[in-house]
Amino acid sequence: MYRTHNCGELRLEHAGQEVTLSGWVQISRDFGGLKFIDLRDRYGITQLVFDTEDNPTLGHEARKLGREFVVQVSGKVRERTSKNPNRDTGDIEIEVTDLKILNASKVPPFTIEDDTDGGDDLRMKYRYLDLRRTPIQENIIFRSKVGIETRKYLADEGFLEIETPCLIKSTPEGARDFVVPSRMNPGQFYALPQSPQTFKQILMVAGMDKYFQIVKCFRDEDLRADRQPEFTQIDCEMAFVTREDILNTFEGLTKHLFKAALDVSLPDFPRMSYDEALQRYGSDKPDLRFGMEFVELNDVAKGKGFPVFDAAELVVGICAEGQAGEYSNKDIKNLTEWMQRPQIGAKGLVYVKFEADGSIKSSVGKFYSEEELQSWGEKFGAKKGDMLLILSGETEKTRKQLNELRLEMGRRMGLMTPGVFKPLWVLDFPLLEWDEDSERFHAMHHPFTAPKLEDVAKMMDGDHETMKSLRADAYDLVINGSEIGGGSIRIHDRALQEKNFKLLGFTEEQAEYQFGFLMGAFEYGAPPHGGIAFGFDRLCAIMSGQQSIRDFIAFPKNNQGKDMMIEAPSLIDEGQLKELNIKLTV
Ligand code: ASP
Repeated sequence: MYRTHNCGELRLEHAGQEVTLSGWVQISRDFGGLKFIDLRDRYGITQLVFDTEDNPTLGHEARKLGREFVVQVSGKVRERTSKNPNRDTGDIEIEVTDLKILNASKVPPFTIEDDTDGGDDLRMKYRYLDLRRTPIQENIIFRSKVGIETRKYLADEGFLEIETPCLIKSTPEGARDFVVPSRMNPGQFYALPQSPQTFKQILMVAGMDKYFQIVKCFRDEDLRADRQPEFTQIDCEMAFVTREDILNTFEGLTKHLFKAALDVSLPDFPRMSYDEALQRYGSDKPDLRFGMEFVELNDVAKGKGFPVFDAAELVVGICAEGQAGEYSNKDIKNLTEWMQRPQIGAKGLVYVKFEADGSIKSSVGKFYSEEELQSWGEKFGAKKGDMLLILSGETEKTRKQLNELRLEMGRRMGLMTPGVFKPLWVLDFPLLEWDEDSERFHAMHHPFTAPKLEDVAKMMDGDHETMKSLRADAYDLVINGSEIGGGSIRIHDRALQEKNFKLLGFTEEQAEYQFGFLMGAFEYGAPPHGGIAFGFDRLCAIMSGQQSIRDFIAFPKNNQGKDMMIEAPSLIDEGQLKELNIKLTV
């Protein structure tokens, strides 16, 4: 038997018992005639003591132990003289009588501690060592728990877990596909799924009714921070449902996961339309942990002789509570420069400070009287000590810029409180987005999303301009400013689907070649259906109050899309290439 207990479970009540533990040597210290070792496994750390004076043979063996050696020890549990209140096992130690070295270890290339000295690439190369570190281990254990609770909840709700294929057909819509050459069909390629979207819809046509899958998705995008080329979704679809049924089911799932994994009871999720979210927060995924809502000033700020505002489509600002005294002229200048960086691209930044002494200071004081500035303050509900930050320009751009400023102020003012969770449904997205550059429509969600019922007739018969105003039965679940999930009610009618492809710039042949199977299925009794997919990696990160999804994935890829441990991607040999009928040009 390798162990009677794990390294996290012994307590004072076990004192006097003979036990056997196995684990890794975290650290060892010599102390007079005693040697102390911290023994670690995924359950915790237990202190071992070797009496090297009384038992020189054992002492000799113990002295061979280096960091990360794997050992098995037997001995008696005893109460510690100096206890460690920070550790669950901190009241006891093991007086070791037998030691067996199960495996030696080279000196690890970085410290296996909560804060490691290893850089990213080194940690990825030796991911098995990195995964031994408690914070990462906790993340992976947490993820497992959330996955298991997802299965439990959805199974209880009558969902079937059904696998869909990984080798599918390439469709250029959406992100770039990863492709896989087919040996048996020379010159032809499979694609890895960006999501199981069409398959889950086909499952509804097939009568499966409630489907879910915790599934890998693949997107060959340029990797922005915190994107992974392969990531995991909780992918779901239901038949005979309205939007309301879906929101309720998945609000239920989300509440269950927070309760089961974090013991957090979430209140009912507020709902907001896409238009309202943009108007109030400049973003379709607002962080609701803090206010600083947008207040529009067109009616009071335009037409008073300040040319910048007069020329602007929108004058809009936020009120940073208590910040008037915190921002010197130099700080304002720095903040303005931060806003003017190309990533944000604001032209300028106007401030109005309501000083603690009752005076008002503003960068546009020349153009507006004190009463006027006071009336702006009233619109924001500003008090003494508050500071307004105001932007102006073209509506969409200005809102985007102010969203960045709101988030930055939220960060600076410490308003993104960890452990606070503010979920929100964003609803009624536009169906189509007009892209000026390519002069075509893009699907805001994806090409299978249905317009709202009341917009169907408009979509079938309307003119070009009408198409811009179509609303979709699409929804996003947002938590703390991150999009956690998104989905829609789907088109289940061939004619409407054909029309949508046409609007998206597909020729009839292209639509048939790529999605003929789906439109064909719609002709055989497709039920009304809809669904949603959660970004599982991100959900786990957000629930844990962390930014990066990478440490919730056991084997992630780096920013160049590489797996540093197995060194993928890699070259393949000539024979393999030949078999696949591939000639390299690089
Ligand atoms: N398949 C969609 C996605 O990957 C989600 C959905 O519409 O259910 O975003």
